[in-house]
Amino acid sequence: MTLVDIHTHLPGNRNAVLSVNPADFSPEPGQFYSVGWQPWELPPLDAAHLDILANAAHHPQVIALGETGLDSLRGGSMQLQQQWLEAHISLAEDVGKPLVVHLVRSAATLIALWRKTQPHHVPLVVHGMRSNAHVARMLLDEGFYLSFGWRFNPAALLITPEERLLIETDDDPTHSIHSVAAIVAAARNTHQEDITNTAAVNVKRLLRDASKVMQVS
Ligand SMILES: [Zn+2]
Repeated sequence: MTLVDIHTHLPGNRNAVLSVNPADFSPEPGQFYSVGWQPWELPPLDAAHLDILANAAHHPQVIALGETGLDSLRGGSMQLQQQWLEAHISLAEDVGKPLVVHLVRSAATLIALWRKTQPHHVPLVVHGMRSNAHVARMLLDEGFYLSFGWRFNPAALLITPEERLLIETDDDPTHSIHSVAAIVAAARNTHQEDITNTAAVNVKRLLRDASKVMQVS
């Protein structure tokens, strides 16, 4: 099993991490998942919803937390989004799994919150990366991984070092992960297989680095 696609909502692809709402989590054999409350459909932050998330997060087929995150254009109040993001961060640390974050025009807020909740042992992935190179630089300087789909800002893609680059299909059925890899490869002036290999190596490292926290605690 080689995981290449760090973030999809489209079931049936065993090479992808399938992102689901924790209330809908019902694991299929051979499929890996990430679970999180998406910022567009956040429930109230209470014990019941934290429990649903925590129960799913501990499942062995769940290899990442998320997506959750910050979207200043859509979704619940920014206060609720931030509180849920903090809850996902601390749960990710508890279970030793990386966190996949949806981020729309909120990079400074994410960085402030991430710094406030230090120290961190698990890596953070900003998925669906479409921001410009300036924002990409801020996120890279913070140590985050960046995941690109078929639409992106080429300058942001080009400044992303190979060891922080991930690719994804998200919720778009029109582009397979191979087609995303080809588009990303063309923009970086390299070969599709290089991008696929890079993504696979990076997913592996992401999971290994995160799981260290479980072994020491
Ligand atoms: Zn998504």
